[in-house]
Amino acid sequence: MSDLRVCPRCGTTIEEFRRTGLLGCAECYTAFREEVLLTVRRVQGKTRHAGAIPVAKEERYSLMLERQHLKEGIERAMREGRYDEAKKLQQRLKDCRQGEDEE
Ligand SMILES: [Zn+2]
Repeated sequence: MSDLRVCPRCGTTIEEFRRTGLLGCAECYTAFREEVLLTVRRVQGKTRHAGAIPVAKEERYSLMLERQHLKEGIERAMREGRYDEAKKLQQRLKDCRQGEDEE
């Protein structure tokens, strides 16, 4: 089974993500969403005895990953002078945070 998914923005392939566990930009998270969730499951499986993770926790972890990713993207965009993109990412980060506040 070959999986040729590629992030439309930075060109990171799903193969690269599998190998390194790293996403190239915030879009990767969207492009490889299923794979990211699988990876999260694998990581948690190693550290926890319980097999099943409540969906809420998994979602939270995904959100955390995405926020971290957005922050990195913002920093990079600022460094490279791409302020429009930084602004867009900041807006997305804000959206993520709003979800988090609802305990
Ligand atoms: Zn990407």
